[in-house]
This record gives sequence, C-alpha cells and structure tokens, in this order.
Amino acid sequence: MSQKSSRIPGFYKLTVEERLEKVSQFAELNEEEKLCFLKNGDLSLAIDKEIADRMIENVIGIYELPLGIATNFLINGKDYLIPMAIEETSVVAAASNAARIARVRGGFEAEASDQVMIGQVQLLHVPDIEKAINNILKARENLLEVANRQDKVLVSLGGGAKDIEIRKLGENEMLVVHLLVDVKDAMGANAVNTMVEAIAPLLEEITGGKARLKIISNLADRRLARARAVFDKEAMGGEDVVDAFLEGYRFALLDPYRAATHNKGIMNGIDAVAIATGNDWRAIEAGAHAYAARDGTYKPLTRYWKDDDGNLVGEIELPIAVGVVGGAVSIHKKAQICRKILGVKTAKELAMILASVGLAQNFAALLALSTVGIQKGHMELHAQNIAVMAGAKGDQIDEVAQRMIKEGKIRLDRAKELMKELYG
Ligand code: NAD
Repeated sequence: MSQKSSRIPGFYKLTVEERLEKVSQFAELNEEEKLCFLKNGDLSLAIDKEIADRMIENVIGIYELPLGIATNFLINGKDYLIPMAIEETSVVAAASNAARIARVRGGFEAEASDQVMIGQVQLLHVPDIEKAINNILKARENLLEVANRQDKVLVSLGGGAKDIEIRKLGENEMLVVHLLVDVKDAMGANAVNTMVEAIAPLLEEITGGKARLKIISNLADRRLARARAVFDKEAMGGEDVVDAFLEGYRFALLDPYRAATHNKGIMNGIDAVAIATGNDWRAIEAGAHAYAARDGTYKPLTRYWKDDDGNLVGEIELPIAVGVVGGAVSIHKKAQICRKILGVKTAKELAMILASVGLAQNFAALLALSTVGIQKGHMELHAQNIAVMAGAKGDQIDEVAQRMIKEGKIRLDRAKELMKELYG
C-alpha cells in the first residue's frame, strides 16, 4: 500500500496557497516549482515568450486555464493527486467525489496495453493488388528495418516498428499499409509520421503504386487503457440509487444523442488531465469517439452493471495516446510539474490514470443526473461566474452569487440588478 494518501478531507475549503502547500508536500515540489504555479505573471518560470514563439506560429502571448487538483484517487493501490486544467465548473469536484466513493471498495483497477500506434500509407493506382500484397509481405523485414532506422533512440528502448498489416479499401480502389509502432513513453505522432514517410518510396517501388497520404491514425485501437471500480451501494445512497443510475446508463446504450453527451462527460476528465500534462487532447478525443463508433453505432465508452451484493460496477475501455516524453510534454514547465505531482514515469501509467479519471467523471455525472440533476452541483460556481460577468469583484462575487442562489434566479440580468441595488 502507498504511504501518501490522496484522501485530503476539506481540501476544497483551503485557500489556494494552502492547497498548493498540501500538494507540494505530497509531491515533494521545490520552491521554484511551487512558485511556478503561484506567480502567474512570472513567465520565466512557465513557458516564456521565446518558447511559446517556437511552439506554435504567430504567437502574441500565452493563454491560461485554471489548474485544480482532484483528490481521493486510489489506482492499483497507489494514491494519486490528479492535476486538471479546465474551464468548466464542477468537473474537479465531481472527479474527487467519485474517487471518494470508489475508494470505499479499493479504488480503481486499471491496465493498459503496449503503447502501439498505427501509421498509415495510402497506395493508389496499384496495377495488381494481390501481387502487391504478396510483395509487401515478402518485404516485411526490410520495411521494418527502414522504419526503425529513423528512430534509433526508440529502438534502443525496446520500441520501434514491430509489424505490418495490409488492408484493401473500396473495390480494389486502394491499398492501405499499416505500420505498427511501439512508441514506448512518447505520444508518438512525430515518430510514426517520420517512419511512414520513410517507407513510402519503398512501398511504391514494390507495388508499382503511388503513395499518397502517409500519416498516423488517431484510432489507436492497439493502445487501449481500461479501468474498473466497484461503487459501494451505501456510499451511493442505497440500491435504489444504483437502479436509477443503471436506468440512466441504459439511455446512453440505446441512443447516440445521449451517448455523445455521456462520452463528453468522460472526456471532461480525460482532457483536463491531458492538458495539465501537456498532451495532445485532440488526438485522445479523436481516438475515443472513433472507438465509440467502432461497431457502426456510436456507443458509450463505459459499461455498468450490478454485482451480486447490489453494488455498482463500472468499467471503461478506450484508446489513450499520451506521452511523458517528446512533443510539448518535455518543453512545458507546468506540464512537467503536473507529471511530478502525479508521480508518473511511463506513458502506460499515465494512460491508466486517464482511464480511471474518465470512469470517475462519468460515474459522477450519471449519479448526479439520475438523482438530483446536474444543475445543483453547478450552481454555486456558475452563480459566481455570472456575478463576475455582471462586474462583481472581491467579496461582491460571493454576495451577489449567494443572493441569486437563494432567489433561485441565476441570471445575468438579475446579477446586474443586484450589483446596482447593493453597490450603486
Ligand atoms: P517527439 O518526436 O517530440 O518525441 C518522441 C521521440 O522521443 C521518440 O521518437 C524517441 O526518439 C524519443 N524518446 C526518448 N525517450 C523516449 C521514451 N522513453 N519513449 C519513447 N520515445 C522516447 O514526439 P512524438 O510523441 O512522436 O509526437 C507528439 C506530438 O506530435 C504531439 O505534440 C502531437 O500534438 C503531434 N502530432 C499529432 C498528430 C496526430 O495526432 N494526428 C499529427 C502530427 C503531430
């Protein structure tokens, strides 16, 4: 069992500085790392102008998001504090709450496959498709060798191109060659894209066709992560709540309109951790939604059922392509400190955390939806946001927000009226 506990009762009641202190103790952050989060304006500690200017094009500045910490996560017997960068109210609280309930019965059990990405080469105008397939199979070793010559570092770590698969698309319209690459601890897009570009001329030569697109696939179905948890029926509020939850879940199973929102809730959690750790969340999004539709119908990424004791069991499975090296992951200082807070060293472990957070987020949303509704939890911070929009500052924010909540009127026009009434 782990020494450090992510169970920090009353964490939400602390000040920003007090929370940071707790997290610093947990993750053994040094003064500089702490300052990085506190001194928002001191860009020399985060990404500075020069780095930003090299990361993307036409830079004019740096855009920020709030960074919160989800508590209570126990994954494979290890405690984690989870950094989440997100603009949406309630997500961090919901994840922490779900993790608290999951903890009652041992937390999350998670696993992840090898970190295998698929690179695609599209071959057009192939004169003899069957002969071409044969020739590609015969050249398999050579193709893998050419691919692996592109990334000696990856190969030295035990990764690299491992296999070739061939698919026919359309009525013999094109051949698509898949290069299966174990990208180890990287997200892998650059690595894979370089490899498919390198093997394309060879594929043209041996098939007599024209290699058009050479690019990674974001349907990373060889790079899956799974998590499972038992949610205690008493901690959920009784077996009636479990039943109501399952009725709500069934809606997503039967209806893509509902399933889209169901999966969006999952991604609330996954994206927030992906952003906090400097990962490409669009790649994860694309993979998740394509995987949800893999049978031809768009389906929820989670499964739920009742165990023999009436507790709720939840499970998630989805492709998760994340890295702990390479890309922005290695450049972004705050992303590095977030990884330190998580204490992750491998892409596999990060993928397992993301799957667990996705399950937690989905559980929390469905629990709220099938009982009190989603707005109750959203209300407090939503009211505060509306108050800010109406021009409230400092103590005025709470005052205006509380009044709107009491009146049950959380609207900008009412907030503006209250601002006038209270502060002239
Ligand atoms: P990268 O090329 O910067 O780093 C990966 C490289 O790091 C490897 O090729 C290897 O040589 C080296 N390395 C060192 N230690 C390693 C270890 N332990 N495990 C694995 N590799 C190690 O980054 P990348 O991960 O190939 O590319 C990620 C970036 O590509 C992301 O920023 C993403 O946004 C971007 N991208 C995505 C897409 C897409 O998803 N469709 C397309 C293009 C680019």
